[in-house]
Amino acid sequence: MSDNQLRLVWIYPDLLSTYGDQGNALVVERRARQRGLDVARLDVRSDQPIPTSGDIYLIGGGEDRPQRLAAERLRRDAHLYQAVNNGAIVFAVCAGYQILGHEFVNDLGQREPGLGLLDVTTTRGEGERCVGDVLGDIDPRLGLPQLTGFENHQGVTHLGPTARPLARVQLGKGNGTGDGTEGAYNDTVFGTYMHGPVLARNPLIADLLLKLALDVNALPPIDDRWYEALRSERIAAAQQPA
Ligand code: GLN
Repeated sequence: MSDNQLRLVWIYPDLLSTYGDQGNALVVERRARQRGLDVARLDVRSDQPIPTSGDIYLIGGGEDRPQRLAAERLRRDAHLYQAVNNGAIVFAVCAGYQILGHEFVNDLGQREPGLGLLDVTTTRGEGERCVGDVLGDIDPRLGLPQLTGFENHQGVTHLGPTARPLARVQLGKGNGTGDGTEGAYNDTVFGTYMHGPVLARNPLIADLLLKLALDVNALPPIDDRWYEALRSERIAAAQQPA
């Protein structure tokens, strides 16, 4: 971070914002401002270059065709690689998560290269689409409470040796491999299947991104009663028998 300003970049809202993932940008922005930070938020459309000077980059989910277009443009642009090499933080949801990996299956049924920023590979699941509420235990190394979210994907994501699972599901499919893992991360690059939007349902993940960006171990506490009420409601709803 320079000039005491947090630069938050939301990648391709015109292609990857189908499932309310704009909420993730709003939550990071608000929680940073509540800590007295000056925030510059940049929404980068798919016909614009990605800035390399961002501190946190967010990527949302999307249907199969916009996902392919986004992957093509991100590969061509290449600035996200540079930003990650400079230590930037990336947090991506569903289609965005798949794009961060080595490859996924596109809307034409072909293997589409991803960015290779996460050691994961996505294939097309043979079974039913993974749709529904998810509850999971986040990797204890991250020291975060139970993950809650909503998933809707056909892709099944396999983790390579340098990616750690973000969580282990108690409910839902997560990566869909049957091994109980959900999402993946490696240093400063995070991927999850959770919509919700995930940072509204799990605001302490937003704080984790802020702590990484600021290089601090703790942030001043803020009044999270509203978030806690939403979390309890969603956790209770997820646990209701179908
Ligand atoms: N198109 C991808 C899949 O179905 C991602 C979907 C999403 O972003 N929700 O696997």
